[in-house]
Amino acid sequence: MFDSLSEGLQSAFKSLSGKGKLSEGNMRDGLEIVKTSMLEADVSYSVVQDFMDHVTEKALGKRVLLSLRPHEELVRIVHDELISILGPVDSSLHLKQEGPTIIMLCGLQGSGKTTTCGKLSQLLKEENVKPMLVAADLQRPAAIEQLHVIGRQLDVPVYSEADNKNPVKVCQNGIAKAKAEGARVVILDTAGRLAIDEELMGELQRIDKKVAPDQVYLVVDGMTGQDAVNSAGAFNDALELNGVIMTKLDGDARGGALLSVKHVTGVPVKFIGTGEHFDALEPFRPEGMASRILQ
Ligand code: GDP
Repeated sequence: MFDSLSEGLQSAFKSLSGKGKLSEGNMRDGLEIVKTSMLEADVSYSVVQDFMDHVTEKALGKRVLLSLRPHEELVRIVHDELISILGPVDSSLHLKQEGPTIIMLCGLQGSGKTTTCGKLSQLLKEENVKPMLVAADLQRPAAIEQLHVIGRQLDVPVYSEADNKNPVKVCQNGIAKAKAEGARVVILDTAGRLAIDEELMGELQRIDKKVAPDQVYLVVDGMTGQDAVNSAGAFNDALELNGVIMTKLDGDARGGALLSVKHVTGVPVKFIGTGEHFDALEPFRPEGMASRILQ
């Protein structure tokens, strides 16, 4: 019934129910188990605390202690609350009916932006929607060539300019080309840095202002835990984000950072990256993530 609660957690809750009627004391023990599990999954402390406050408030209501199966009721509250804060589900790219839809990807260097350009292109091609990629990362020397390699692999056009140092102009010229060639989606691969700095944010803000993308997605590396949360806060302050894509969730990380990133940005998690290949992009499902966080 509660697929999203792991077996370990389920049995911990069941052992509470073996003690007969659930008391406020052993209910708190159950919630402590949830709290530890979330902290171990790398959810930030303040987010866990917020979550626990909500759940405790609901669980301490008469409904739980008076219900016939209090431990199940407790599991239900934890489950529902987690799904609710991980949601809403929205993996639509919100394509426009007319003209190309402009999607801007931003994030720290190495977060997986360029790879995600390829993954999104593959997804669009499968839906018979024609994408074009624009190489707007003029900071990392190999980034333009990396995007061209991806374009060749997927047979997707890539717009780049060898000598133009102005990413705003490159994006504008790329969009004009996409319009002329009838591409329905333009994906802008912007520059990242190893850490947040004002210059990077200024550059992204200029692109955002002058190009006015329809969708701005933050790409975050799910392996980086707390760093992902801090950078998400900075990107969210600088740009009006429409969604988050969390990569590298094929690794060992339990992905608790996703809950914190969601909390900080307040925008939907669109997709998760689960590998280096172009087909390793999945629409985000809160149930699967809840299960992973509450291992
Ligand atoms: P960028 O600097 O943000 O453009 O990052 P890249 O797209 O170059 O990705 C950095 C590294 O992460 C590359 O080696 C990618 O193959 C790898 N990568 C990207 N997404 C994923 C993912 O979902 N899973 C795994 N395992 N690796 C990924």
